[in-house]
Amino acid sequence: MTFFVLVTDEVDERGLSDLSRDPDFVVDRIDDSSAPEFAQALARAHAVIVRSATTVDAGMLEAAPELKVVARAGVGVDNIDVDVASRRGIAVFNAPSGNTVAAAELAMALILAMMRHVAEADRSVRDREWERSRFQGVELEGRTLGLIGAGRVGGEVVTRAKSFGMEVIVYDPYLTDSRARELGFRLTDLDVLLESADVVSIHVPLTSETEALLGAEELASMKSSAYLVNVARGGVVDESALADALSDGKLAGAALDVYETEPLPADSPLRQAPNLVMTPHIGAATEDAQVRVAAEVAERIRDALTAGDLSAALNRAELD
Ligand code: NAD
Repeated sequence: MTFFVLVTDEVDERGLSDLSRDPDFVVDRIDDSSAPEFAQALARAHAVIVRSATTVDAGMLEAAPELKVVARAGVGVDNIDVDVASRRGIAVFNAPSGNTVAAAELAMALILAMMRHVAEADRSVRDREWERSRFQGVELEGRTLGLIGAGRVGGEVVTRAKSFGMEVIVYDPYLTDSRARELGFRLTDLDVLLESADVVSIHVPLTSETEALLGAEELASMKSSAYLVNVARGGVVDESALADALSDGKLAGAALDVYETEPLPADSPLRQAPNLVMTPHIGAATEDAQVRVAAEVAERIRDALTAGDLSAALNRAELD
């Protein structure tokens, strides 16, 4: 049997090469959903691979009578109507681990950039200034990193931070002492973490429990010499409370890759906040991660279509 796979977004070709070379698979790459060939490819597709640009809604699923699998080359599946897919018996996969190292390395990059004023110093040199004393920073060595969440990304941050000589404490109510011992960190309460960490880094998903986890009160409990970094999800930190804390000098600095609303609105108070480094949600944006997530979903599609293996499907409980 020939399996047809429709790839709609910028999914890395190198990660899909095994599937493209497999004589049992035909891979169609069409990113313009209004093109007539898109509708034809969708009508015969057994699997669709997307990133975040395509919205896989009820209408798109309806137009794909052969579809068995929708795969997101990345983590979040907010652009896929998982409920409708489940009702139609379509498995939904993501690639949860391909981005992990990329996100952890960005967290380290932002921590270093904040603590050594890299972005601001760059701007000043470009403005023909030479103000060495203005950019005196602080070192990671000997300081305490407090992680909120230490799953895949947080775990990678732990090992990197320790190699910089940092002590690591973690607030994560779902972790066991054995994981803490294995990675060499101390589990603690959120209050203690916020009061004692020199750098707080967030690595939790956005859930009803973590939404606005750090509001004005929590930010006020941090040391005024402390730094905050969030490469996890916008919404975990209250952005206007953070902008106020930075403007009032209640925090030494912050770095964000993710925001409550993306792209960041023009009138966001964060744009005026001092000592803040911002990147436009580039945590997963490395070549290596893009190849890895494409390869991860390609493997899942092959296992699902050729061997009926749905064990990694996000909606496996809802499928027959
Ligand atoms: P994960 O599921 O492996 O780890 C999340 C950890 O958070 C788990 O250990 C869990 O126990 C913990 N946790 C859950 N609820 C908690 C709570 N209420 N309080 C404290 N801890 C809690 O996820 P991951 O792959 O490590 O990803 C972490 C975050 O990073 C996610 O939000 C993910 O979307 C985000 N991410 C962002 C980028 C980016 O482009 N910026 C890239 C990859 C991942």
